[in-house]
Amino acid sequence: MSALMPTYAPSDLAFEKGKGVYLYTDDGRRYLDFCAGIAVSALGHAHPHMVQALKDQADKVWHVSNLYRSPSQERLAERYVAASFADRVFFCNSGAEAIEAAIKIARKYQSDNGHTERYRVLGCENAFHGRTLATIAAAGQAKLLAGFEPAIDGFDQVAHGNLNEMRAAITAQTAAILVEPVQGEGGLRPAPEGYLQGLRDIADEFGVLLMFDEVQCGMGRSGKLFAHEWDGVKPDVVSTAKGIGGGFPLGACLTTEAAGVLGVGNHGTTYGGNPLAMAVGNAVFDVLMEDGFLDHVTAMGAALDQALQGLVAKHPSVFIETRGLGLMRGIKLVESIVNRDFKAELEAEGLLVAPAGDNIIRLLPPLIIEPCHVVEAITIFDTVAARHV
Ligand SMILES: *Cc1c(COP(=O)(O)O)cnc(C)c1O
Repeated sequence: MSALMPTYAPSDLAFEKGKGVYLYTDDGRRYLDFCAGIAVSALGHAHPHMVQALKDQADKVWHVSNLYRSPSQERLAERYVAASFADRVFFCNSGAEAIEAAIKIARKYQSDNGHTERYRVLGCENAFHGRTLATIAAAGQAKLLAGFEPAIDGFDQVAHGNLNEMRAAITAQTAAILVEPVQGEGGLRPAPEGYLQGLRDIADEFGVLLMFDEVQCGMGRSGKLFAHEWDGVKPDVVSTAKGIGGGFPLGACLTTEAAGVLGVGNHGTTYGGNPLAMAVGNAVFDVLMEDGFLDHVTAMGAALDQALQGLVAKHPSVFIETRGLGLMRGIKLVESIVNRDFKAELEAEGLLVAPAGDNIIRLLPPLIIEPCHVVEAITIFDTVAARHV
């Protein structure tokens, strides 16, 4: 029996090394990685620029705490500010922590403006915001909360994509709206056209903050640095993580000047933005912002979408539909085929994917994939699907 707390049910695969879009077991088997550590390994495995940045920093200094100035933090924050809606950045270590910061900002913002009664955060059903007590309450899903009740007070949910429901749910106690522009774990649901702008209008009308959870859909995965940019909408707060460190634990909460309400003593985290994380974070940013990189993501996303649509058309008794944005794609299986079983079959053929809610198989490849990798993945899908006809 393992000494680990059994919080996961991992497959038997254990990887020894990775290179680019492939992972290798110690007995030399090769796997095409369309999971990317759940949208984390944005630049694939062992990207030379990231590896060099980490090695160089490892020889200098690993950690000093935020009691001292951090030039690499200041630099990365400035770069994110220059490339986004934001004026202020707070670095932390994970997605849940980035969302916690956003929730605290929502309460503090209203409190600073004399509205201590406004503390509730309004989100969407089927959302996922992390596994801390506040973030499971923010998502509101019964399966996340089971055994951990009472849920932390101050969170409400309405149907994703429904502006009327969102508007009707705003009360005198609402502090902020918190939405994933593309829902990930909950079933790979992109925002319907006009939804994000509609949320902006509602937020403005009622004086509440508009906060996006871009932990999964941000960091170039959509083909823009942040997915909300596709809609030309300016949020007040964005939380991100996953791809931002390319595999090094890192998260960030970005805000406008007006929403940048966390001051000395209000918030903090010991490891947040430490020199190792910042070395890698800056290296990831270098590559994301290279000329043409995000356009490549968009092109690969379109190629993957087209290929997946072909699969749906070819195997109607296996697949129902495909949906997504950029290189965040899902394919929905018919009810009689369980996504976790299908995922295991793909794995046996050398393809790694991630399951999601709504019987979806999620494809979250490294952003550096080429057309040949799309072909390779789709061929494996086709082989496995043919068995189910
Ligand atoms: C993964 C995820 C989180 C939580 O991130 P952790 O790093 O696991 O805490 C929050 N929101 C979304 C949308 C995610 O995909």
